[in-house]
Amino acid sequence: ATPVAIMVGTGKGAEMGILFKSAEALENLRNVGTVVLDKTGTVTRGKPAVTDIVVAARADGSPAMSEKALLKLAAALERQSEHPLAEAIMAECETRGIVARMVEDFAAVPGRGVTAREGQNTIAAGNVRLMNELGAAVPTDLAEQFATEGKTPLFFAKNSELVGTIAVADEVKETSAEAIAALRKLGVDVRMLTGDNRVTAEAIARRVGLTSEQVIADVLPADKERHVRELQDAGGKVAMVGDGINDSPALARSDVGLAIGTGADIAKEGADVVLMRSDLMDVARAIELSRATIRNIK
Ligand code: ADP
Ligand code: MG
Repeated sequence: ATPVAIMVGTGKGAEMGILFKSAEALENLRNVGTVVLDKTGTVTRGKPAVTDIVVAARADGSPAMSEKALLKLAAALERQSEHPLAEAIMAECETRGIVARMVEDFAAVPGRGVTAREGQNTIAAGNVRLMNELGAAVPTDLAEQFATEGKTPLFFAKNSELVGTIAVADEVKETSAEAIAALRKLGVDVRMLTGDNRVTAEAIARRVGLTSEQVIADVLPADKERHVRELQDAGGKVAMVGDGINDSPALARSDVGLAIGTGADIAKEGADVVLMRSDLMDVARAIELSRATIRNIK
């Protein structure tokens, strides 16, 4: 490719808020066969909010604790987490005037949730995987109901007793469905990759026109990169679009990594392209620009 054509293409991209960091990124994007989209913060807004609060019932039917006590326990755990789900819980607690108390030995468990110690008690917040590891019984029907609605159920445990479930939902971005249709028109295979559970992920996928076969769910942070590699091994170039710290190894592994402008700095540093408008339509526009640029050269 001639340096002039690349310069013109890069300049046009910049005008649209699509920042190509290298000539290679602009050249390679035209023939990617698969685009992998992270769910939270990429397909969805990444600003989840609490929708439901359910206190668990003991065997005798009495509540495990009051709703306020559940929220206090949740706040104590989530105040130290940087996860968007934790921010949703903290925002809800703030609205209700719940003050988070201090806990000890806070630990984030990647892909699972968070744990801490409070006196003699171990308290935890997280997904089914974490609850299973702690020996806490998951309310399966409730979890299934929330997930089917596209909500992410978060479970709270004190020692090995489940004390409550809080559902959190994140809205799909306005242009996500349109962008996925545009990518399909360009002949690109689209996949959605997430650490969230499969049922929730599929409910979100349906809203943006993706089938369950196109969803890769329950992925641990360390495994996102492996999934990109497997798609590469299956043939064709792979572009990854993500926003989180979690996504940076996968962005680096992909043939072209595209970071969402409002995402984590580390994701933007490791990416080949930065989408300043955080709009998924710009993924399709970037591919079109790449194809047009290379056509002009030939
Ligand atoms: P993603 O960013 O795709 O949601 P993560 O690996 O960050 O993937 O999280 C996977 C899952 O772990 C979440 O969907 C949630 O169920 C659970 N989890 C992670 N962090 C927390 C937290 N601070 N509180 C409760 N649950 C959490
Ligand atoms: Mg994300």
